[in-house]
Amino acid sequence: MTQWDAEAAVVGLGAWGATALWKLAARGVDILGFERFTPGHSLGSSHGGSRMFRLTGLEHPQLVPLARRSGELWSELEDAAQERLFFPTGGLLIGPENGHIAGGTLRAAHEHGIEVRTYTARALRFQYPRHTGVPGHHIGVWEPSAGILRPERAVRTAVTLAQRAGARVYADTRITSVEPVTGGVLLHTAQRTVRVRQVIVTAGSWLATLVPGLPLESVRMPITWFRPLEPDGTFNLESFPVFMRELDDSRVLWGSGTEGGHDIKLGLEDRGVTAKPIDPDDSDRSVTPDDWSDLAGTLPAKIPGLETLPARVAVSTQTRTPDGQFVIGRPGGDPRVIVAGGDNGHGFPYATGIGEALADIAQGRPARVPLDFLSPDRFH
Ligand SMILES: Cc1cc2nc3c(=O)[nH]c(=O)nc-3n(C[C@H](O)[C@H](O)[C@H](O)COP(=O)(O)OP(=O)(O)OC[C@H]3O[C@@H](n4cnc5c(N)ncnc54)[C@H](O)[C@@H]3O)c2cc1C
Repeated sequence: MTQWDAEAAVVGLGAWGATALWKLAARGVDILGFERFTPGHSLGSSHGGSRMFRLTGLEHPQLVPLARRSGELWSELEDAAQERLFFPTGGLLIGPENGHIAGGTLRAAHEHGIEVRTYTARALRFQYPRHTGVPGHHIGVWEPSAGILRPERAVRTAVTLAQRAGARVYADTRITSVEPVTGGVLLHTAQRTVRVRQVIVTAGSWLATLVPGLPLESVRMPITWFRPLEPDGTFNLESFPVFMRELDDSRVLWGSGTEGGHDIKLGLEDRGVTAKPIDPDDSDRSVTPDDWSDLAGTLPAKIPGLETLPARVAVSTQTRTPDGQFVIGRPGGDPRVIVAGGDNGHGFPYATGIGEALADIAQGRPARVPLDFLSPDRFH
């Protein structure tokens, strides 16, 4: 008879895996967690000091219930750990009224009764003077429930709580392959093989290397920090809150100020047009001017008052799916394997809700929020 090493295992302890581990351990499940690096590291997707939280999940109308549940669970995680992870600063979504960012936010807010306030371009430029060059036909949508999450701290906190609840965590341990067998799964490392009844694979950009057949593409995603020319406080969080701003050419500028008003985090996305596919196993994350020159060239006309060269650049990864939505569930209904990935660059605020959903799937509990639209089988 097979001896099982544990009831379940989580492979990949980024934001999604760490919260799944926390939820399952807290429910008393005998569980293992594997992370190829150290939890809170900077080679995956869950790093860079801050992530925007919004209730208005503009990427899909059905994301809003998941965002709401995630908000409750971020508080639960904070309370359990006595650690502050979420800073409710409010957030600004700017762009054409019928566009993806401002328009999408308004739609989600109206459909789900989320409080927002709108600014005309003129009022926006007055209230938030660092946002210059906002054309007259664009608007600003202020979402008071938005804010900033601390990604590295969140990952470490969830892993620590999981360990306190009994999870056995193996850092610096790469699972080289996942092999479904009768009644369970073999997880191979370079040194040994571990046997569990079921596995949750939350390996971010590496997910497709462990669970083949999912249409995932990993891309390189730089994060850039710029310093203000003058220490005049106009880049403090209050005057320059966390934002996403759609430009007329439909590229999206995003970022936020800081409490001290220095090292302002900014990024520029073009819906993947120029994002470079990467092999996530190539751990070379060295920076080239291609990583920041477009953004640096865009800033003087849109957000003036910053030094022309970035103070810091970090390279991160995102994982794309053909329809831009996450992949969460049991591929082919397999009772031994659950996957969660395809973050498409908007997965952080949902991490706690996704962790809980993964725990519910593993335990055969009914879903608390709609998840069918995220099924891994929807592409067949
Ligand atoms: C630049 C940037 C900005 C972003 N901004 C936002 C934002 O403002 N708001 C937002 O909602 N989202 C944002 N996102 C997206 C968000 O950060 C991600 O959706 C989220 O962090 C995904 O977490 P994850 O756990 O799926 O992946 P990861 O954090 O990458 O975790 C996967 C983990 O699996 C581990 N792993 C992989 N293979 C193995 C293996 N074989 N064995 C063991 N362990 C393994 C990896 O080491 C890694 O730790 C942003 C992403 C980037 C890159």
